Amino acid sequence: MKSIYTMGIDIGSTASKCIILKDGKEIVSKALINFGTGTTGPSKAIKKALEEGDISMKDLDSYVATGYGRNSIEGITFQMSELSCHAFGAHFLFPETRTVIDIGGQDAKALNISETGMLVNFVMNDKCAAGTGRFLDVMSRILEVDISELGACSALSTEKINISSTCTVFAESEVISQLSQNKNKNDIIKGIHRAVAGRVAGLVKRIGVKDMVVITGGLSPNQGLVEELEKELGCIIYTSPLAPFAGALGAALFGYKKIKK
Ligand code: ADP
Repeated sequence: MKSIYTMGIDIGSTASKCIILKDGKEIVSKALINFGTGTTGPSKAIKKALEEGDISMKDLDSYVATGYGRNSIEGITFQMSELSCHAFGAHFLFPETRTVIDIGGQDAKALNISETGMLVNFVMNDKCAAGTGRFLDVMSRILEVDISELGACSALSTEKINISSTCTVFAESEVISQLSQNKNKNDIIKGIHRAVAGRVAGLVKRIGVKDMVVITGGLSPNQGLVEELEKELGCIIYTSPLAPFAGALGAALFGYKKIKK
């Protein structure tokens, strides 16, 4: 029987993620480019995923777009909301999950999902940079620490430092002041993670924490943030190396589901 190839592209505000799936279960290739909507990021992510999978566009049975910039792309089979895609992608990675926390470049979302991976309820913060990737991007720049290193630095902290400002702009000044007092960067980073975790936990508590809890989105590889979030919510939070791709994965899965209908 001929295999079915479906592609999902998640065009975010900050990054573009692409996944190619075979028969709705096997990941053929994936690509992440740190440029989002309105840039060359989406086309680069698609090209990279096609090359890595040794697949051409005409081999695809479906091509589904999601994310903030999903309307900006041409030639797609259909588009889906990122809420539904993150829910479905997280369900593929962890079939037992009922709560999904998706933290991206410019927003954070908490979703309750059904046992089949469908979206039941959600809350979202897209009004304030605190509690999103943007906050960590700003801090990583002034700390001169790469965004991918923040988690490891946090683990080396020995002294508690609180970042009390809830506004990104004021928190930035607070961090600059801590640095000028020669405070340890690792301690500052842990304080920053605690501040972000507090914001996100407030969001999650509004929809209620239902086990099992999974984190998706670009910030999911940050173990320092995940640990602080676990403390705030009092539960284990599961993640996967594929969690930043959950939206793209969900889109590719919806493409497959529609074909099989
Ligand atoms: P969007 O879909 O809104 O474009 P993503 O979910 O792709 O956003 O998340 C992008 C954010 O992820 C960046 O703003 C950055 O803060 C964070 N990020 C990117 N790479 C890493 C990494 N290796 N470790 C931790 N955080 C990261």
